[in-house]
Amino acid sequence: MFTRQKTTVSNVHFQNIESLVDKLRHADAILVGAAAGMSASCGYNFFYQNDAIFEKYLGEFHKKYGFTGAFNGFYYRYPSPEARWAFLARLAYLEYECETGKPYYDLMELLKGKNYHIMTTNQDFQFTRVVPEEKLSAIQGDSRYYQCSHRCHDEIYYNEEMVYAMNEAIDENLCIPSQMIPLCPKCGAEMEPWVRGYTFLEGKKYKDEYRKINEFLEQNKEKKILFLELGVGRMTPMFIQEPFWNLTYSLPQAFYITINPKDAILPQALIEKGIAIKEDISTVLQEAVTLYRQETGDLAETLNELRRQIQERRTIK
Ligand SMILES: [Zn+2]
Repeated sequence: MFTRQKTTVSNVHFQNIESLVDKLRHADAILVGAAAGMSASCGYNFFYQNDAIFEKYLGEFHKKYGFTGAFNGFYYRYPSPEARWAFLARLAYLEYECETGKPYYDLMELLKGKNYHIMTTNQDFQFTRVVPEEKLSAIQGDSRYYQCSHRCHDEIYYNEEMVYAMNEAIDENLCIPSQMIPLCPKCGAEMEPWVRGYTFLEGKKYKDEYRKINEFLEQNKEKKILFLELGVGRMTPMFIQEPFWNLTYSLPQAFYITINPKDAILPQALIEKGIAIKEDISTVLQEAVTLYRQETGDLAETLNELRRQIQERRTIK
């Protein structure tokens, strides 16, 4: 075991990493619930801020419309559908081009060889690059797909080719040609990105995402199951956080860990069955991987490596 002095910040920090690794190692099943904070921890804040990635891809839209984050562009009243689709195409293009963040790889290293399932409210499809489809449930949609805006039929359409073609055709007025606007092949209405909104299609694919979660829970509810919550904010607790709290409370061998730099909350009723780690997700996952890798190695060396990483971050800041 690590030797600890009393209650310094870094000791609490070590203890958190140790507990996380210990719970991961001894769980029979792990259900991960990841939300916006997971992508934010990769440095991707373009939905909420005009960060460097936003400027690179959507800087022209910032200049023309004053957007300071991609969400602004979703709800804006554009002068024409051609203008709206230019924005939607550029945003989806950004998401296709955006590299998978390191925390995603770190998480997958921690889950390697384990019995796990991942549910996410993220629509940026970062997870789809590192997780097999049967182990992933995107419960708020996935922006790689379009649906009919009138929901006239239950099908979603993979959009990569359309997105790249539309993006390529955006003109100096930030519009796409009218004939490129994606239309429903059945009723001719405009399509919409398949993401949570007024017209979100909760059809076969949507139900299938929940089927996968329910099957996983059914198979593992009596086992030592770990609910690992990553970056769920307080805006929409009903999708991941509250179900995780209720399940941890009611399942006999369940344990709950939340990692969140802002909103790591542990309800009083779960005080014996959970940990709240109020820290940066990317840091925690990276250090957990370091500790995990050295499972059989020299603990003193592991400790030094962790100290070196912490020192490095202090120097950067
Ligand atoms: Zn239609």
